[in-house]
Amino acid sequence: MAKELICIQCPQGCRLQVSGRGEGLKVRGNKCARGIAYAGKELTNPSRTLTTTVRTCFPDFPVLPVRTRGEVPLARIFACMEEINAVRVERRLRPGDVVLDRLAGTGVPLIATADMGEGKAVYH
Ligand code: SF4
Repeated sequence: MAKELICIQCPQGCRLQVSGRGEGLKVRGNKCARGIAYAGKELTNPSRTLTTTVRTCFPDFPVLPVRTRGEVPLARIFACMEEINAVRVERRLRPGDVVLDRLAGTGVPLIATADMGEGKAVYH
């Protein structure tokens, strides 16, 4: 039986019908090859880039936007959020600075996406 997926690799959002696995993977509804790769990965190891915020100790910048520097397995999202929710940033960071080295054992760093500046928020 075919499974339905929405490809999230671009704004087209193709509705995919996916059946089989590995060598026998069959994908219909994709407008490009990225849809096939997405469907294969989604069936075997679904993962996402995680975007969220962490608390800081700075009253003028209490919440820092962050994201993972790569995708983390969906199965690890709750563990990642638990670790992220326990973070309190205690130095001013710039975009790309590492907040956590290896998020929840995934090996993927969590990085800042905003410039905390010197008391002034600048978003990128
Ligand atoms: S299959 Fe290709 S065109 Fe369709 S949403 Fe995925 S990336 Fe975009």
